Amino acid sequence: MYFADLHLHSRCSPDGKYSISQMAAAGAAAGLSELCVTDHCDLLDVTGQVARPFDLAPLEAEFLDAVPQKGVKVRFGLELGEAPEDCSEAEKITSHPRLDFVIGSLHNLSRKMGGKDYYYIEYSSEALCYQYLNDYMDQMEKLALLDCYDVLGHIIYPLRFMRDRDRRDVHLERYWDRLRMILQTAAQKNKGIELNTNRGRSLGEWLPILRMFLACGGEIVTVGSDAHRPEDVGKGVKDAYALLREAGFRYVCVFEKRKAQFLSLA
Ligand SMILES: [Zn+2]
Ligand SMILES: [Zn+2]
Repeated sequence: MYFADLHLHSRCSPDGKYSISQMAAAGAAAGLSELCVTDHCDLLDVTGQVARPFDLAPLEAEFLDAVPQKGVKVRFGLELGEAPEDCSEAEKITSHPRLDFVIGSLHNLSRKMGGKDYYYIEYSSEALCYQYLNDYMDQMEKLALLDCYDVLGHIIYPLRFMRDRDRRDVHLERYWDRLRMILQTAAQKNKGIELNTNRGRSLGEWLPILRMFLACGGEIVTVGSDAHRPEDVGKGVKDAYALLREAGFRYVCVFEKRKAQFLSLA
């Protein structure tokens, strides 16, 4: 089976400290056939201030240095955060010809809500969580309409902090209709979603979202571990493939030069 992990961070991300070579070696050791480095490019910083300009050159240099002879195919990607805050800047960054793959993610509240990174917020009540989730859905609707991304990244992301870390009893069911519209938009634009395993932690909760995407006509799904350390590379990928099959998908995707390639899950 051809296992591919399409969401990894190297030391080119502010929250990573390992080289692409180290991550690639770990991927080969974990039995991956392919990986894609998707370092952070966030249009807002963690406090919500505009973060400019973004320079892809250091990432590209490190990538070119690390690519050969690892026993695993290494692709060059980007995790683009907060694209709706500046669509033309997002288009400009993602038009780089070297890029194989772009994950469109949201890591911050919108600027009108203060723009803070979800990670740095203390979720003191369920009411506050839902206020922020409303904003998250507003942003996700805008993101889905853009052209700059290939897959919508970790759609259930804020739950990592609201529910898993701060133990708030929040659920996405009340957003099902809005999520369906978001997935429908992505599917109609021939875009995909990623099943983010969060280093092997979150899997079962993806099933209803995967089924909804399939029902919307969605075909493109990538799998990523979101590893920031070598020991997390590839975590949950095998189980994610099984989950995709269970949801009814026959293919999982990898990307080369922004084009989806379909790998059979049979
Ligand atoms: Zn992310
Ligand atoms: Zn990430």
